[in-house]
Amino acid sequence: MVYQSFLIKYAEIGIKGKNRYIFEDALVNQIKIAMKKCEGKFHVSRSYGRIFVDAEEDYDFDEAVNALQHVFGIVGICPMKVDPIVPYEELAKTAVEFFGEEYPDRNTTFKVHTRRLDKSYPMNSQEINNELGGALLDAYPELKVDVHDPKITVNIEIREQIYMYTHVIPGPGGLPVGSAGKAMLLLSGGIDSPVSGWMMAKRGLKLDAVYYNAPPYTSERALQKVIDLAGLVSEYTGPIYLHNINFTEIQLYIYDKCPHDELTIIMRRYMMKIAEMIAKRTACGALITGESLGQVASQTMRSLECTNRVCELPVFRPLIGFDKEEIVTISKKIDTYDTSIQPYEDCCTIFVAKHPVTKPVLKVIERHEHNLDAGIEEMVQRAIETDEILVVDANGSRVFKNREDPLQPWD
Ligand code: ATP
Ligand code: MG
Repeated sequence: MVYQSFLIKYAEIGIKGKNRYIFEDALVNQIKIAMKKCEGKFHVSRSYGRIFVDAEEDYDFDEAVNALQHVFGIVGICPMKVDPIVPYEELAKTAVEFFGEEYPDRNTTFKVHTRRLDKSYPMNSQEINNELGGALLDAYPELKVDVHDPKITVNIEIREQIYMYTHVIPGPGGLPVGSAGKAMLLLSGGIDSPVSGWMMAKRGLKLDAVYYNAPPYTSERALQKVIDLAGLVSEYTGPIYLHNINFTEIQLYIYDKCPHDELTIIMRRYMMKIAEMIAKRTACGALITGESLGQVASQTMRSLECTNRVCELPVFRPLIGFDKEEIVTISKKIDTYDTSIQPYEDCCTIFVAKHPVTKPVLKVIERHEHNLDAGIEEMVQRAIETDEILVVDANGSRVFKNREDPLQPWD
């Protein structure tokens, strides 16, 4: 069966009242971007609360569906047969053939659901439902009608053309990327942070990312792993601006000046601080981390209080209530798991204490941070000024040199 068109179903954005068109436009836009990656030419359009993706040339069905399954906001993808407006007898003949091709095993239940937008069509929706239901039963006597809970719904839409579909392939759900603004993901090479970025992108956020690198204590491979993870997430979000921050000097300074059981907390506070500074310069409205309550010493309630205190922007921690198993399940689903478990050290693991504090006291932490007063501001500035920005997509990364670029991450 060659489907000429896809009907795109979107649930949540259908109920946004006055803002609805903003979400629909964002979704159409994201679909256009996704379809550009596919072989063949597609026309994406919006009409009466529906989005259509029409194939204008030959295309690869699996590739097109896969692209659409990476667009947040899509709940269902319905491959359609499209025909010109024809009298009912011909419509019925086509529908019976279509059904036969779609379902070789007809030992099942069905109903016909018609929407007639073209009111000049001589039969109304109910008449078509009844007549076509009868025609399908005549052609395939094994079939049974079930109007309440059918296994198959034969959908007929009469508009400027006649559209037929029976399959609804699930989409990823959520809201179109960018419709909720942009946020800065603290992306390490672990399992958690790519998943948390993906989850927030699913709620409509465009992502920038920041990675703290500690050469020569961390290898080029560790950076490459983070780039690869950003690339995998970018299949859902579009290109990600990844800020590669050299954190070595700051880490060594903290190591030198502060109690070792507080290293992780103090380091995390500086990670958040720097992330927020970059976020504010790049029009990001929030930070995102992969923290999950109690997972490690730096993620107890008290530790989170200490890290939170350095930020003004909201910090989104979508994994806060998730078990590791649940996070792993999502990371496998979005394909980041195999990359995340590659054994390259990120900067935190190198300087961790044997017995990190689990109940840090904010005042004590702040007092010990004063040991850094002589040099830390300059180091933070240096880290930001030497920020290497990489533009990462599914095909790899390139260094982003021109900060005046119209796509600029600096506002
Ligand atoms: P992950 O699996 O995401 O690495 P984790 O369980 O290893 O998380 P931590 O190392 O405590 O947890 O880090 C908590 C969060 O802090 C991470 O999820 C990430 O958002 C951020 N983070 C940690 N290390 C880095 C880093 N080197 N660069 C950027 N962000 C980091
Ligand atoms: Mg980590």
